[in-house]
This record gives sequence, structure tokens and C-alpha cells, in this order.
Amino acid sequence: MEFALFCTRVNALVLLLALCSPYKFIQSPMDFGPLNFLQTTNTASLDFGRILFNSPSAVLRPQSPRDISLLLSFLSASSYSKVTVAARGAGHSIYGQAQALDGIVIEMDSIPSNVVIREKGEDEAGFSYADVSGGALWIELLEESLKFGLAPRSWTDYLYLSIGGTLSNGGISGQTFKYGPQISNVLQLEVVTGKGEVVTCSPNKSSDLFYAVLGGLGQFGIITSARILLQEAPHKVRWVRAFYEDFSTFISDQELLVSMPNLVDYVEGFIVLNEQSLHSASIAFPAHLDFIHKFQSKGSSSKVYYCVEFAVHDYQTKGTDVEQVVEEISRLLSYLPSHIYSVEVSYFDFLNRVRMEEMSLRGRGLWDVPHPWLNMFVPKSGIKEFRDLLMENISSDDFEGPLLIYPLIRDKWDMNMSVVLPEAVREQVVYVVGVLRSASPASCSTHCLNNLLHRHRHVAETASRPHIGGKQYLAHHPSTAHWQDHFGPRWDQFKARKSRFDPLSILAPGHGIFPRLY
Ligand code: FAD
Repeated sequence: MEFALFCTRVNALVLLLALCSPYKFIQSPMDFGPLNFLQTTNTASLDFGRILFNSPSAVLRPQSPRDISLLLSFLSASSYSKVTVAARGAGHSIYGQAQALDGIVIEMDSIPSNVVIREKGEDEAGFSYADVSGGALWIELLEESLKFGLAPRSWTDYLYLSIGGTLSNGGISGQTFKYGPQISNVLQLEVVTGKGEVVTCSPNKSSDLFYAVLGGLGQFGIITSARILLQEAPHKVRWVRAFYEDFSTFISDQELLVSMPNLVDYVEGFIVLNEQSLHSASIAFPAHLDFIHKFQSKGSSSKVYYCVEFAVHDYQTKGTDVEQVVEEISRLLSYLPSHIYSVEVSYFDFLNRVRMEEMSLRGRGLWDVPHPWLNMFVPKSGIKEFRDLLMENISSDDFEGPLLIYPLIRDKWDMNMSVVLPEAVREQVVYVVGVLRSASPASCSTHCLNNLLHRHRHVAETASRPHIGGKQYLAHHPSTAHWQDHFGPRWDQFKARKSRFDPLSILAPGHGIFPRLY
């Protein structure tokens, strides 16, 4: 262990001296010996988006937070260096956010995953929680916590994302209306700041760093450990889908569902553009949807439908008749007559549903393809106009992938954190819209991909104007000035926190928010 650490330090220092030298004498990271450095930097220049491919000069495989601290302490003390550093979790960004052109990528998965569950009553906390390393995946936390009958409260749809990666953004899914995003369910963090300091922070201790890092796009520090709130896990889930042809009825039923957090545990929804999009959204849903004929009988490719998705947890031990609860809720909804489908699945399968979609897409060669995604938060007052704007800019004939739309509740977000929501602060309901499209090279050439990216940028820019008032989630902006607009009145706070925790702007260059200083 000591030897490994020593070697790591020697390697890191040699690498850094070489990278920081005004005379570039390093050819490849292999010049510094094999320990903890990758032979190739290929994976570090790749992400899920497959749109940008920025190569770093080196990839660090740390064995502990101390290795990260050593690297950042050294860089922040060397005034002539322009080296930048990006933490890479699971690499599921779309636009190179975890890449570092000519810099150093730190692969967080090299630190052994550590998940420690503390049950209520074990210490003075009064609730159950997990201490989990920043590079661990949410699926690992789920598997470990379920052994104790516990689970985190708030999720993302896909679980093969890293803890540090989603906490740097927000982390949202169908539970967010009830428990807030994942960043609202964190009790404490261990962070290595851009200055190389290792800090344990929480709402009561070094709180400015704690709030800066949550939703902070990796700008202030690297999360090496997080304490996540847990609750009792249900055994089963009743998972319901109901179909609509009228957009206003669809959203008003979604809003009704999120107004009943005591009964409902999960609310999402999606736009059904064509048979293919219904099929791809239904891989994990184990019920036969006899809905497809509707598209055919209408004979019109422009007809779209909407699907509300909700779920109720079945704790079994608590004596509630879940089917009766679902029936009562369903009676309040105004879906197309007889177009409601309800299934019972295990809690694990429900949370891990996108994995089934991944496997199916991988099998058809449709997973490792470009993903020109657009994610936006849209205030309730702008959602109809946003829908029209979106429909003018996508073609239902060739759209591949899900088009999600569901409401969140503003009060569940702590606006002292760095995450950005629409500025219409008096509106409690904010929609998230996810245009999660795939662009397989087999059907979409480079020209076609560029065209899609151009259209999405047009939608994002139009929707960001005051008449709609949207904000990008997992945002991608071309310049510091665009980022300043994105943060709006909160830009000064974001910038001040950057000067405090990463004064040389070493961290997370892939977002293009702050130029590196030296
Ligand atoms: P990376 O892509 O590795 O990194 C993302 C950013 O976080 C980079 O800036 C990076 O430098 C920084 N970062 C990474 N690790 C750390 C760390 N330890 N400390 C500080 N900064 C760090 N998001 C949702 O909210 N809800 C969803 O339902 C959802 N579903 C998704 C489904 C799929 C199939 C995909 C591909 C993405 C989905 N996302 C979703 C988006 C996802 O949350 C973000 O892309 C997230 O950043 C991915 O985590 P990652 O570990 O892959 O991060």
C-alpha cells in the first residue's frame, strides 16, 4: 500500500513536471511508467454523446483521494502551467463535459468503490444513510443498500452513472417531485478542491463549498465521497401507463399526480411520436400495449399521443392495498378510455428498467452511436409554447429514442446549490423535457447529425428567451457569455465561488465556462 502510494506520487510528479515544462519533452503518458497511468487516452476522449472527442495529454488512475489532492496541489502551485483537469465518472456526458483537451483526465473508477451503510439507530443521526465513494455507480449503491432493506429516495432513470457525475448536475427522475433531485438528498461530501485541499463539507460545515459543489458542474472540486440519505425500500412497485391524445389533459393529469405525494411515488411521461418511439419506450414495461393500431388507423404520421407514467410502492408489510390505491388514483385521471395499463414489478427491476433498454439497443448496435440530446427545464407557463416549438423542429417520422416530459416541484430544490432552474420563481411547477434522441450513422450522416444539433440549439435558444423562460439541464453553451446568461442573476455567486475554490480554473474545462488562468 505504502509502496503503491509512493509510486503514484513519483509518477504524478514526473508527469506533472513534464506537462508543466515550457519544453514539451513528453511524448505519451507511457514515458512515466505503467503504474496508475493508462497506456492510451482513448476512453478519456469519448463520452456517451459521441459528438466531441477531445484528447487529454494524460490519464490519471488515482488509488485514493490523496492522489487527486497531490495532483491539484501541485498544479495550483505552478504558476506557469496551463494544465486543466477533468474528473471522469462513467463518461455519460453528451458534449465533452468530462473531457480535458491536452489536460489530465482523472478516471474516478480507479478508486475502489466503497459503500458503507449505516442503519437508523447505529449512531446519533436518527436516520439511515450510506457513505459512498464519488466514482461508484448508483447501481452499486442500490445493490448494497437493498441488502439492508434500504434504498436512496431519489434516482436517475439510468443507474450506471457515477455518484459524483450526477451530483455535479442534479440527478432527476420520477421521484424528484416528491423528494427533490439527488442533490437534495445528500447529507455530507468529501471534496478535493481545485487548490488540492481535502474538505469534508455539509450544510453545517464548510457549507459554501457543499452548496457550490452540488449541481456545480465539477467546477469547484472533485467529489471523492458522498453521504446519501436512505429510506425503507419497497419490495414491489405498481407501474401504470395511461395514454392521451390531448396535450392539455396530459399535463393537467401529471400535475394532479404530483399534487398527491402521499399516494404517488413516481411520475414521468413521454410523447409518443410514432410506433417506433412507443416500442423503444416499452422494452422494460411487461404489458402488451395494444395501442399501435391507433397510429395505423389514423393513417397520419403527424398524429402524436402522450403517455403518463406513474408508480406506487408496495411495502407489503404496511397493510395498504396498493391495487386499490392505484384504482382510486386512476379514477381521477382523464386518459383515453380503456387505454391504461398496470403491471407489478420488483423494486429493483423498476429502478433498473433502462438497463433492459440498453441491452436491447446494444444488441441492435444502437447504443454506441451519437446522441444529440437536449434537456430543458421549462416553467409551467411556457410548456405549451415549448411543445409547439419542439414539434416544429422535430420530425415524428424519423425520431429515434424517448421524448420525456414530466413535472417537478420547485420547493424541493435548494437554490443555494449551484443548479439552475427557470427564473419564474412564483411558479411551483417546472417541467423537464428530455429529447433523448439517437442518431445511428446507418440512418443519419454527419450532415444529418449537424443538422439535428443545429435544430436543438435553435430550440434551446428560443426557449431560453423570456416568453418561454426555459433553462438547459446538463447544459452545453458555446462561450462564457452564454454561460453568464444561463446563470442569470446567480452568475456573480457562481463566479465568486469559482475564485474561492478553484482560483486558477483548473477543473472541468469541458464545459467551457472559465478559461484557465495562470
Ligand atoms: P461524467 O460524464 O463522467 O461527468 C460529468 C461531469 O461531472 C463532468 O463535468 C465531470 O468532470 C464531472 N464529474 C464526474 N465525476 C465527478 C466527481 N466525482 N466530482 C466532481 N465532478 C465530477 N441525468 C439525470 O439527471 N436523470 C436521468 O434520468 C438521466 N438519465 C441518463 C441516462 C443515460 C443513458 C445517460 C447517458 C445519461 C443520463 N443522465 C441523466 C445524465 C447524467 O446524469 C449525466 O450525464 C451525468 O453527468 C453522468 O454521470 P457520469 O458519471 O457519467 O458523469
